[in-house]
Order: sequence, then C-alpha cells, then structure tokens
Amino acid sequence: LGVACTLSAKDIKSAPLYKDAEAPIEKRVDDLLARMTLEEKILQLNQYTMGRNNNVNNIGEEVKKVPAEIGSLIYYDTNPTLRNNVQKKAMEESRLGIPIIFGYDAIHGFRTVYPISLGQACSWNPELVEKACAVTAQEARMSGVDWTFSPMIDVARDPRWGRVAEGYGEDPYANGVFAAASVRGYQGDDMSAEDRIAACLKHYIGYGASEAGRDYVYTEISAQTLWDTYLLPYEMGVKAGAATLMSSFNDISGIPGSANRYTMTEILKERWGHDGFIVSDWGAIEQLKNQGLAASKKEAAVYAFNAGLEMDMMSHAYDRHMKELVEEGKITMAQIDESVRRVLRVKFRLGLFERPYTPTTTEKERFFRPQSMDIAAQLAAESMVLLKNENGLLPLVNKKKIAVIGPMAKNGWDLLGSWCGHGKDTDVAMLYNGLVTEFAGTAELRYALGCNTQGNNRKGFEEALEAARWSDVVVLCLGEMMTWSGENASRSSIALPQIQEELAKELKKAGKPVVLILVNGRPLELNRLEPISDAILEIWQPGVNGAVPMAGILSGRINPSGKLAMTFPYSTGQIPIYYNRRKSGRGHQGFYKDITSDPLYPFGHGLSYTEFKYGTVTPSVTTVKRDGSLSVEVSVSNTGKRDGLETVHWFISDPYCSITRPVKELKHFEKQLIKAGETKVFRFDVDLERDLGFVDGNGKRFLEIGEYYILVKDQKVKIELID
Ligand code: BGC
Repeated sequence: LGVACTLSAKDIKSAPLYKDAEAPIEKRVDDLLARMTLEEKILQLNQYTMGRNNNVNNIGEEVKKVPAEIGSLIYYDTNPTLRNNVQKKAMEESRLGIPIIFGYDAIHGFRTVYPISLGQACSWNPELVEKACAVTAQEARMSGVDWTFSPMIDVARDPRWGRVAEGYGEDPYANGVFAAASVRGYQGDDMSAEDRIAACLKHYIGYGASEAGRDYVYTEISAQTLWDTYLLPYEMGVKAGAATLMSSFNDISGIPGSANRYTMTEILKERWGHDGFIVSDWGAIEQLKNQGLAASKKEAAVYAFNAGLEMDMMSHAYDRHMKELVEEGKITMAQIDESVRRVLRVKFRLGLFERPYTPTTTEKERFFRPQSMDIAAQLAAESMVLLKNENGLLPLVNKKKIAVIGPMAKNGWDLLGSWCGHGKDTDVAMLYNGLVTEFAGTAELRYALGCNTQGNNRKGFEEALEAARWSDVVVLCLGEMMTWSGENASRSSIALPQIQEELAKELKKAGKPVVLILVNGRPLELNRLEPISDAILEIWQPGVNGAVPMAGILSGRINPSGKLAMTFPYSTGQIPIYYNRRKSGRGHQGFYKDITSDPLYPFGHGLSYTEFKYGTVTPSVTTVKRDGSLSVEVSVSNTGKRDGLETVHWFISDPYCSITRPVKELKHFEKQLIKAGETKVFRFDVDLERDLGFVDGNGKRFLEIGEYYILVKDQKVKIELID
C-alpha cells in the first residue's frame, strides 16, 4: 500500500504533466494522483496551523515543524516571509512538489476591517459587499493567504447566539444573495489571479440553530426547515462557485454535520454537483467522540471521512489513523483518491502550482489603499440603521454644543468586532474624532466617558451629567464589547449592561435631547433605552472607517439607508422571533400576558431623512400559466428634500399550500438612489418555480396552482397560477 505510486522514478522526472500549466486541470490531477503514495495522499487531507505568534522570530524552527507534504496550513502571520519559507520546503523538499494551501479567517476584512457581516447585510447592497470582499482577497493574497473561511451563511434567528454577528441575518434568501456576492468578491472570475482567494461557505449545516443560542451545541431542525431555511443559502453559494465548505459542529437529526453523509455527499456533491472540498471545523472530527458517535479518534476518522469530509482541521484524526484504516479495509483507496482529487483541483484552480510563492510587498502597498478605505466608509454608511428619529432631531442642525458621552466614544477595539482579522485598535477611526472633524467650525464638542462598558462604577456619571447640562444635544455612544459576540460568546440577555442603561437614565436629568449611537454585534433589547432616546442610530461594529459616516449621518451630510436584516425583539423573552414565521392555527404569532408579542423593530425597519412614496404595485399579468412569465413593478418617488437610497423588499405569500408555509418570504430586493423629486421604477422578474414554489423535506421542488400574493410594504397583489 505504501507503494501505491504507479509510476517509476524515471517517469516522474520526465516533464510531468501535472506541472504543465497549459494542460487541463482534470488531466493534471489525474497525472499527479497517479504518482502519489498513500502517505502523500493522506497528508493532503490534513490542515495544521502556523505562525500563531505574529511575526515569528525563528522562521527556521517554525518551518521545521511542518511536514513538506502537508495539504494545508492555517496561516496566522501577516507577512508572506514565513509562508514562502515553508512553501519552499513543500516545493523543493517533498518528492512531488505539491504546494500548500494557506487558509485564514478573513471574515469582514483582513487588515482593512469592514463592518461585521450582520451590519453589511443591513446595507442590502450586495455589489458593495462584493467589493469589500475583493479588497479582503487582495490584502489576504498579498499577505500569503490563499483561502478564507468565509462567508458564514448560517441563518440565525436567536440573537443570544454570538455568531449572529458573522452572518447575514435571519432571512435565508438574503444569506444566499450575500453568499454569492462574497464568493464573487473573494474568487472573482478566476481564483488564480494574484488578488483573489478561495471562499469557504460555513458552517455546513444548521449551526445557526444552536439551541437557546448556546454555542457549540445540538440543534433541532426538521427536514422541512433544513431544506427551506438552512440549505437555501448554501445552494446559492455553491451555485456562485464557492470552492470549499466547512462542516459544522452541531448535529442534524442526530447526525453531526461533520459525519453527515446525507448533507455532505448526497446533497452537496450528488445533487448540487459541488466539485471542491469540505474542511472540518476546528477539531470537529475529534469532537465526534464527545457527541457520542465515535469511541475513538480513529473511529471518528471513519465516520467523517466516509460521510464525505475531505480535510481534517486540527483533529489529527486523518494523519494518525488513515493508513491503518485503509489496511483494515474501513476506508477505500477509491474514496481517498476522490478526496485528494478535490483538494488538488482547488489548488490547481488557485494557480498554486504556477505561483506557489507570495511576492514581497510593504504593508503600505497591501493595506488601507485609498479605494479600500472608501469602500469601508461607504459600506459602514449603508449598514447603519436609523431606528428612531423623534421630531426629526436628526440631522443635527443649529446645535452649537454637543456632549459626546459613553464607553464607545473613544474606543478602537470594540468598533472592530469579533473575527477582525489582523485589525488593530490603532487602525480605527474613533467616533469622537469623527464627530470633531465633522462638526469643526459649526459646534463645540465636550467628551465624558460616563462609565465603562460593564461593571458598576458610577464615578464618571457626574462629569457626564455636567457635560449633558452644558450641551444642546447629547450623543450617547453605548454598546457591547467586541468579545461579547462572535464564537463562544453567547449571552442570556441581549440588553446592554445595567451600568450603561443607568448612565442613559442619569443623563436624562439634563433635559437635553439624546441621540443614542449603538455599537454591537447582535440585535439588542432596547425597551428601556428606547423611551429615553430621541433618536437611535444602530452602527453595529463598523470597522476601521465607521466614525466618519456615523458623524456624516448626524450632521446630515449622509442620508441613512440601512434596514434591519434581523429582528430586534422587544425583550429577550420573545426569542426566537423572526419575520418569516410559519402560519399558526389562530393566525397570529401568539401572545404573552406580560409583554407585547411584537418585536420592537421588525425585519426591514430603517428610517431615512427623506420621504419615499410608493406607487401601486403592478403585475404584468394577474393570471399566469406554470410555463408563463410574470414580472411586477412599483414606482417609488422621493417626495422629500434630500436624495436618498431606498431598498425595496419583495415578499411572496402563498395562502393555501399542501404544507404550512411562512406568513411571507423574501424573494427579491433592490436598492436604488432616488434623488429628491425623482421617481424610480423597481422591478421583480418572478421565477415561478423558485419564487412561488417550495421545497419539501426531501428537497423536492413543487409549484402548486392557485392564488399567491406579492407583497411590498403594506401593499399586496394577487396572482392566480393556472395549469
Ligand atoms: C470556528 C470557525 C473558524 C475556525 C478556524 C472554528 O473554531 O468555528 O468558524 O473558521 O475555527 O479558525
């Protein structure tokens, strides 16, 4: 077995086909596979880490630790030197010279950090998200990273789960659209370009349903919900060409995502035809032991591998046990070949065989290019959601004295958010500084901390109240620490810490209007802060360049246009609460004795400084045959005085169906700039199968004749589908 190499040493030397850049990729893979030993194949299916301590001093030692034949490394360093050294070892010291693929979590930026993905989703601007991902790809590739573990497209309906920050909110279709946009941004048309990287859809699948928002636990997902809610964005991401996926920690109907043949092989590969590879989540194969599926790491390797999981991230299950398992007949050579083929295919597509090394560049050449920073500002601006604006307090006009108060005002780290790549607090434009620049010459600013993010120290309250009394308006900057969302950062309550709420109450004594600026990684419970705030601007964790657009919205230079991609509950006790709930027997969403059952701010909520008037929603036909065509239009007029961006969300509802469907489902959205006084037409070309039809719990698609409604804001039009 150890000599599963079918070519002689002489053959290998004579211009191997796999090194021929002109040959078709599949031919190159065939050729290379035929030359590989079992040991070489097995190592291709493993991923280790390297460069944990940034800018490691002893490169020689680091390189020594890595086997020359390893398939992949997670690369934590920011400069390519270490990569190039270890790659040299792979290229020159291994028998066949197979390049290593270097992966890293560049989630919402590499060094130029963008708003968290949940914020990005509120922009409803996939083109802009694509551009941000393209910058991330450029910075990553130039720093020695070929592959990002992004986008995360786990539909998330429980804001207690810290990882809601990493995805695109509660809607399956929106997650799918942003998945496709990210894949295009990272990979471009050709992943081998020097400024593109491979994408990874994660976490496949159902991770967002972690029970009660506790991270790393089990899920309860029906077959129906698996298909219509959780799989949809993955299908869209795969269609967009995502090179890889990451398997999840959770189980689905008792079978862990990382040992699930149904999802990894039957659905992904057989039905959807995905030809790249799946990497496990960190240690997920070994965790099959904790999940009670496997009694040993060796057994875990069998479960995971035979279910279709190609690459082992840090479990050391494949590297240690695979050879033995082949000898014992528990896994087959055919399956190993198929898995290695998938890994090699991605490496060829990335052009790694032709360009294994990363050219040396300066940080200045790589990071914070002016255009990258512009995209950061624009994406931050469009992700910000004006939740409340009582009596038109915003934009601030004729305010001469502004008190800027709170733990987020002069804060760098917390504005970056979790998984901020190689971002540094010193890269971040602080909110206070943004306001100083914005209001230079028009208003005087005074700063007070008030309190820290958490704790019960009220010592700063007095100074803050004094500043509030002095001012014409208070800009109160509250929020969550960056470590409170992201992985392993669940919260039992989604309210802000009590000390921050108390500060807000205290400042009310000054009797001045309050603009609440929120920096956070999840929807918050705002029912106590909302009544004492005159205006609320949700800016999420906006990244390195969020202060300027935040200040621009306050001054009126920028008209806010973000709309929520995830519901803000009235209180934590309502969770889970999301717009696309299924219909109930009583027709409503149920009631509580003690609180309202409505959210505080629903999905899609977001205010503007101008007014948009919607015309009548008009379908091209009202009766349509199954094989006919249907489009719907609505004109939107900007009747206010300012130019503004408006997003139209198109929903459908199916009043009668052979399954219980959601009250409404988002099927299309579009954002356009509408100048003051102008009217724009928004159009939805309905794909009858996709938009009116549904999938069952086996993924089979149905389109039933009968009536449907197309919904836009408070209008609905009836469509009759006939045979
Ligand atoms: C996370 C993944 C991440 C991986 C590698 C895991 O713990 O769940 O999202 O990509 O680590 O850093």
